[in-house]
Amino acid sequence: MYQLTDEKRLYDQARRLLTDSEVTDPGVAVSQLREVIAYADWKYYVQDDPALADEEYDKLFKKLKQLEDRHPELVTADSPTRRIASGLSERFPAVSHMVPMLSLDNTYNADDLRDWDERCRELASVEELEYCVEPKYDGASISLVYENGILTRGATRGDGIMGEDITNNIMQIKAIPLSAPFANLGIGQIEIRGEVVIHKKDFEEFNRQRIAGGLSPLANPRNAASGTLRILDPAEVRKRKLNAILYHISFYTTDSEKAAANAADLRATELDTHRHSLEWLYKMGLPTPARQMRLFRHIDEVIQFCNEFESQRDELPFEIDGLVIKVNSFALQDKMGMTSHHPRWAVAYKFRARQATSKLLKVEFQVGRTGAVTPVAKIEPVPIGGVTVGSISLFNEDVVREKDLRIGDTVLVERAGDVIPYIVKSFPELRDGSEQEIVFPENCPACGEKLEKQEDMAAWRCISSSCPVQLAERLMHFASKDAMDIRSLGTANVQKFFDLDLLKDIPGIYNMDWQKVRLLGGFGEKSIQNLTEAIENSKKQPLNRLIFGLGIRYVGETTAKTLASAVTNIRELYDWSVEKLLTLEDVGPKVANSVSHFFSLPENRHMIDHLGEAGVNLLNEQKSAVGADGALSGKTFLFTGTLSQFKRSDAEAIVEQKGGNILGSVSSKLNFLVVGTDAGSKLEKAKKLGTVTILTEDEFLSLTTQQ
Ligand SMILES: [Zn+2]
Repeated sequence: MYQLTDEKRLYDQARRLLTDSEVTDPGVAVSQLREVIAYADWKYYVQDDPALADEEYDKLFKKLKQLEDRHPELVTADSPTRRIASGLSERFPAVSHMVPMLSLDNTYNADDLRDWDERCRELASVEELEYCVEPKYDGASISLVYENGILTRGATRGDGIMGEDITNNIMQIKAIPLSAPFANLGIGQIEIRGEVVIHKKDFEEFNRQRIAGGLSPLANPRNAASGTLRILDPAEVRKRKLNAILYHISFYTTDSEKAAANAADLRATELDTHRHSLEWLYKMGLPTPARQMRLFRHIDEVIQFCNEFESQRDELPFEIDGLVIKVNSFALQDKMGMTSHHPRWAVAYKFRARQATSKLLKVEFQVGRTGAVTPVAKIEPVPIGGVTVGSISLFNEDVVREKDLRIGDTVLVERAGDVIPYIVKSFPELRDGSEQEIVFPENCPACGEKLEKQEDMAAWRCISSSCPVQLAERLMHFASKDAMDIRSLGTANVQKFFDLDLLKDIPGIYNMDWQKVRLLGGFGEKSIQNLTEAIENSKKQPLNRLIFGLGIRYVGETTAKTLASAVTNIRELYDWSVEKLLTLEDVGPKVANSVSHFFSLPENRHMIDHLGEAGVNLLNEQKSAVGADGALSGKTFLFTGTLSQFKRSDAEAIVEQKGGNILGSVSSKLNFLVVGTDAGSKLEKAKKLGTVTILTEDEFLSLTTQQ
């Protein structure tokens, strides 16, 4: 879809748009911004190779949004800002698919596949068939309609004949382009099928947040994807980070005679086989399995590939439950036709279900770092998908009650991919009367304090501030890989130091009495050296990791990044009100309240002071000084008017190299306004503020060269 020359042009265009602070022609700016954002989405979601930093992307997006707010006449149907739909849908109207969405016939072993191959070759009356094999994604089926190149409809599969119109929600999925160059080829209307999926890691994060919020987790990525598509609030859909894979063109029309001739060419060259059609869709900018797809000429090769792939399923970022095998040639597909419920030219090869039955032996109660008490089922160890499962989180009391679990029950256990195992259900019909109710403790299993339950929350919580297990858990979270990444300070060491009273709180990590550690034994000089080095290195971790490591309730890695990039120093958050926090992307009331509460507590501020004294980085380095000795460290600049001695982007680079920051507008935060010729409103505003130092180009140069 993008040639190398396009890519270079768009990349430069993005840089220009990022540095130009003034817009001369809003019409041009708007279309350039759209072009760049569509390109960045494609790089990120389809190519998996980001072209812009997240912050840069956000900056461009905001710029476009502002311009469109100011000039509503410039808004188009395929503008990326349309992805932010507002308001709730009342319900989803029913729509009929242009071509019925059939399901696939299933096969489970090599014999099934050989039988299918034989039938296929008979129907096609050929000796040899070419087969395409691609992953079968475990997501929610969708169909998309583009008209004259613009995405006009997205629908669920429904019953295969009628689906639900979920266009607004589909538009939240950035992997799906809002426009594609179909119209250039004379294609008027095209219907494309695919699957909405959720990355395993996004699914896990999503479940972590649900659990933190007192909700029960969803069973698998498929449920999360299909549930999300039917949420009435598109803003909520956006947060879930859905992705999509498109793999089938079910229908297209041409809009003129000439186009029909074009389309005939297309059919002969690019839309002649399944493989070519995937490559063609990919060229049109759509996410397809083109890169995972394999072509084989014999069913034995297909079978071998299926076996090999099954063992690699965990390496894919998405959950898959099998492979799909299709006859490659469209001409032969047409010849073979379909039954009323599945095409004869395609079949699914299903992987073995990763389920097993076991016995629920007992339930233990564990205290987490937020004080939540989690029931954990101990089951008779059972192998599932290559891993022995003996311990399964039951999350909270509601889950236990919903599933009607009893000690001694036979239970069905599932493990989807590297996703955590869970108990699907119990079998009450197998009970013999000896099963026992699961009794929840009233007191904290770690400190004995009475447990409390907040309204709307499923978890019982220990609210004692001196609960030892909570403290230990908090320390382990702080040191964990995704937080401060103090690798050598693993769970076992934290627990050991904690039990020995060598470590009492988070700042204590930086004031360990190593002499005592040596005396206590069990640690070699080498491991002490590794530990102290890892601890020392962690002081330089970026601010978002520190914020994540503090273990603020509801603040996951993503929110930590958002918070970190909003400030230059963590202490700024002390003064952020709930209202101000709510202005941040993806921060809702629950998170805002929790963050504001955390930073208002004196003990937390003391903890941050102690961390700062120990030398832990409290600054957002991108926003503040590049190096501690940057001459312009902490100073903010803005350029306005036409500069004669240098390009604006070069001048800005000088500021940033010396540790200063560039601001987007005149405000009380601005220190220096550098003025070229024909400076306008910004100069006026700066003069009015009275706090901004106004510099000519010469003054700016002498300021930057003398220092
Ligand atoms: Zn406790």
